[in-house]
Amino acid sequence: MTGALTAQQEQARKEFRAFADRHIAPHADAWHRAQRTPPEIIRLLADEGLLGLSVPSAYGGGGCDAVTLGLLAAELGRACSSVRSLLTVHTMVAHAIARWGSRELKETWLPRLARGERIAALAVSEPGAGSDAAGVTTRLVRDGDDWVADGHKKWITYGETADLFLVVGRSEEGPTALLVERDTPGLRTELIEDMIGIRASMTANVYLEGCRIPGGNLLARPGLGVSHVVGAALDLGRYTVGWGCVGILDACLEASVDYAGRREQFGSLIKDHQLVRRLISDMYTHARAARLLCLEAGRLRDARDPGALAATSTAKYFAATTAGRAAADAVQLHGANGCSSDYPVQRLLGDSRVMEIIEGSAQLHQVGLAEYAFQERAPRSSR
Ligand SMILES: Cc1cc2nc3c(=O)[nH]c(=O)nc-3n(C[C@H](O)[C@H](O)[C@H](O)COP(=O)(O)OP(=O)(O)OC[C@H]3O[C@@H](n4cnc5c(N)ncnc54)[C@H](O)[C@@H]3O)c2cc1C
Repeated sequence: MTGALTAQQEQARKEFRAFADRHIAPHADAWHRAQRTPPEIIRLLADEGLLGLSVPSAYGGGGCDAVTLGLLAAELGRACSSVRSLLTVHTMVAHAIARWGSRELKETWLPRLARGERIAALAVSEPGAGSDAAGVTTRLVRDGDDWVADGHKKWITYGETADLFLVVGRSEEGPTALLVERDTPGLRTELIEDMIGIRASMTANVYLEGCRIPGGNLLARPGLGVSHVVGAALDLGRYTVGWGCVGILDACLEASVDYAGRREQFGSLIKDHQLVRRLISDMYTHARAARLLCLEAGRLRDARDPGALAATSTAKYFAATTAGRAAADAVQLHGANGCSSDYPVQRLLGDSRVMEIIEGSAQLHQVGLAEYAFQERAPRSSR
């Protein structure tokens, strides 16, 4: 990446890599098997200021630029996609509060989220509402100054341990976003086990039964919960997931180069078989291209360029789909060893499957990107 980053960004990247190599990567397979992220590593991330890196400095966060946040997501993603997903959901909620919260909500929550004293989760999806987030059915009814919530949220990353949930339900005005604290009477979580990927991310069902939520916990106006609040959060989520996929690509490449340089068949190292080299060359190309697309998205975000939305979607779509292919190829290249839990590529394959589903599935990005293409390159007849 020489020349592509400022000296400060390059220094930050080296520190993130050293942290992830020391504290996360060596344990990722064990956490994957145990389906748990130890609280100690979450505490360490918090103490290092990494969970609050992108929270505005006025609220005690690191106030970092988008590129630096992306570099952190890539290094965490290279080491362990579950830990990267913690960064993603936590920063999504912090970002939504910074953008749409009242002054009181910002002052109450952002310093705690910045310090990682409290962990936040995003609770939008339901058994019947996924890609179409505006289809949520969790009932939100006003009662005096409060709201009362009843519903079932599903697939909530770190839902089993989070302290604060950004819940989107349906009020009279339409989708509406509220902050709900874990100790709210009527809120219950239930771990979802045996997922294909990000297995350490303690994904949960979240049940809300007659939960009474103070009116002051509202984010944006009722009815704007998906179009504005989730919209802003998802855009940032896509960005960090895209970078996380750059990390998966790097991890696939490293594992494959290492294995191909040691495994012998037919009297030579498999790295000398041309078809194996082709798998490696595609991984190498895709890792570089995905990194450049994510970098472009980061730069546009930092410049507040309106093109950042399309660039973020392009980067996430490309990085997620190529990470999926790289992980499948990495398993192929490892043969039977790739199918076992003795090598990290099995974990990378499961994690990469999830990346093409979350923060906008590959199909939703395809639909949206075609729309950008039609807007940017108007057909000749309408010129
Ligand atoms: C591991 C994991 C963690 C998650 N974490 C969270 C979380 O923290 N918070 C949260 O709220 N949610 C979370 N989710 C849920 C995630 O946001 C949804 O899975 C995602 O939005 C897709 O919804 P769905 O799974 O219901 O699939 P559906 O929306 O039912 O889609 C099924 C298929 O149909 C395709 N499809 C749907 N609509 C269209 C269309 N218009 N055009 C073309 N194809 C279409 C999709 O691409 C997909 O292939 C998580 C999911 C997973 C797997």
